[in-house]
Amino acid sequence: MDFDLPASVRPLLEKIEKFVADVVMPAEAEVMEKGFVASAPRLAELRAQVKAAGMWGPSLPKDVGGLGLSLVEHGLVSERLGRSPLGHYVFGCQAPDAGNLEILHKYGSAEQKATWLEPLARGDIRSCFSMTEPENPGSNPTIMSTTARKDGTDYVIDGHKWFTTAADGAAFAIVMAVTNPEASAHARASMIIVPTDTQGFELTRNIKIMGDPGEGYGSHSEIWYRGVRVPQANRLGPEGAGFLIAQERLGPGRIHHCMRWIGICERVFDTMCNHITRRKIDDEKTLATRQIAQAWVAEARAEINASRLMVLHAAWTIENKGFDRARDEVSTIKFYVADVMLRLVDRAIQLHGALGITSDTILSYYYVHERGARIYDGPDEVHKMVVAKRILSRYGR
Ligand SMILES: Cc1cc2nc3c(=O)[nH]c(=O)nc-3n(C[C@H](O)[C@H](O)[C@H](O)COP(=O)(O)OP(=O)(O)OC[C@H]3O[C@@H](n4cnc5c(N)ncnc54)[C@H](O)[C@@H]3O)c2cc1C
Repeated sequence: MDFDLPASVRPLLEKIEKFVADVVMPAEAEVMEKGFVASAPRLAELRAQVKAAGMWGPSLPKDVGGLGLSLVEHGLVSERLGRSPLGHYVFGCQAPDAGNLEILHKYGSAEQKATWLEPLARGDIRSCFSMTEPENPGSNPTIMSTTARKDGTDYVIDGHKWFTTAADGAAFAIVMAVTNPEASAHARASMIIVPTDTQGFELTRNIKIMGDPGEGYGSHSEIWYRGVRVPQANRLGPEGAGFLIAQERLGPGRIHHCMRWIGICERVFDTMCNHITRRKIDDEKTLATRQIAQAWVAEARAEINASRLMVLHAAWTIENKGFDRARDEVSTIKFYVADVMLRLVDRAIQLHGALGITSDTILSYYYVHERGARIYDGPDEVHKMVVAKRILSRYGR
């Protein structure tokens, strides 16, 4: 067993670490202050630098201008990019575009690839993924009200979605809609590409997340689809294959998210250690001399290290043995790493005192914008139930 970084990406990882620290992190304050929309020129400039340095699209296949990294290699990149909230966006591998690119690459027709995949891969446009509905349980999306009815050579889509991340300013949405209502639960829905300028596509609002509605790429929208008419040629993959494709999108997506969360953990860990070794609690001693702070430092170190090994092992299993053999690992990392990250963010805030809940450090940003980690891509409880059921079945449950 070799725990060294793969030689294939070691120089790239060093280059990325330096770029994130020297160029991306210094841009954070300005982008967060101005917002994503007003910061478009600055972000475009950063992206141009990434492209010029040959680092663009680490998870993208080479035939669409990416680096074509393996899942394990991209996991290692994702951790380094995760150290800044701007990292993935600046390098062209941000959710939900990264997942959409993957499925367009695998299932897209030649026309869909030319129209949507290629400009998306270049970073010229953005996209979103529209599956969850306010009236139905997102944890069980086989219960879905949005329909796509055939009419001549078109589909006519009607439905209500929310939490469509990054829809504000996106060029197209990949919409999950019921096309085969009589089929079995997992064969009822299809994925359909809907340009956001199609008549009947109504973005009602950017939903406030703990008071912050966000904007542009950094937002989650509520959308009505009212008689939205698109050609049947906009369907992605076979009819009724929506859930199958969604599952394929989620496997690697969870690896990307978990490694990004580990990057966040490392940033928060540094922030916490830097603070407690300087903050005085009396004339001589710092906060770092207190046993509770020491325990939190040691526990965080152990949990981050464990998380990294677990996620890389899950990525390796997907790559070498197939997704089916990695199901338990993928579910386990999803709830475990999210919990490690959020506990650490909370403890780091606690050790910062009042400063921790201000926007003068990165901590409050993570507290607000990463809380969703325990909910999206399957809530904790569902992953725990699935893993436990599988384990217990081996004991004859
Ligand atoms: C930040 C963020 C971004 C998102 N981005 C997108 C996106 O881009 N596109 C999109 O389509 N959706 C997106 N979502 C929606 C996400 O997929 C859903 O929120 C998620 O699937 C949970 O569905 P729900 O919110 O309807 O919760 P529900 O299904 O109503 O579940 C609520 C809670 O009930 C519990 N629960 C549910 N089922 C069970 C069970 N079987 N056993 C035990 N407990 C259970 C869990 O605690 C769960 O959190 C996003 C969500 C967040 C928070």
